[in-house]
Amino acid sequence: MHFPFLPKTMIPRLIDIRAEDLIEQGVRLLMLDFDNTVLPYTSNEPTKPLLDWVSGIRTAGIEVCVVSNSKKPRAIPFCELAGIGLIRAAKKPFSKGIRACLDRYGVPPEQAALVGDQIYTDVLGANLAGVHSILVKPLHLHNIWLKGRHVLEQPFILIAKHKKTTQRR
Ligand SMILES: [Mg+2]
Repeated sequence: MHFPFLPKTMIPRLIDIRAEDLIEQGVRLLMLDFDNTVLPYTSNEPTKPLLDWVSGIRTAGIEVCVVSNSKKPRAIPFCELAGIGLIRAAKKPFSKGIRACLDRYGVPPEQAALVGDQIYTDVLGANLAGVHSILVKPLHLHNIWLKGRHVLEQPFILIAKHKKTTQRR
């Protein structure tokens, strides 16, 4: 089994994820963490490149749904604008919200991916649910708690990077 704290894929930014790569990996459903993955905590305004990216993924035939641990309504306007689903209070790393999303779209875990900026919630949650885990860099670490948490994630990020370079050899 894949080590649960290690992301399967690491990509700097959400909008760098390419539909053709997802399709090649058999992904039909892409779940998105919201805070610091889709939008930073400091803004509610989606950029045009972000909206274009979502629409490109959907045009390629991949379902997109936000799966957020937050109970706040912040993700609602974005999901409406982008025409995608939303699951709030997902309780990642527990499987509840991830399973609910898989059920909603009728997709088995091995045909789904979850993108997020946090190892201990997003990557762990995806791996435990048998979903392809993709780690992106947090959009903006605006306070000391987020910065501290990011430091605690570094060992796993380094191991995942090392694994990737070894696999390429
Ligand atoms: Mg996040």
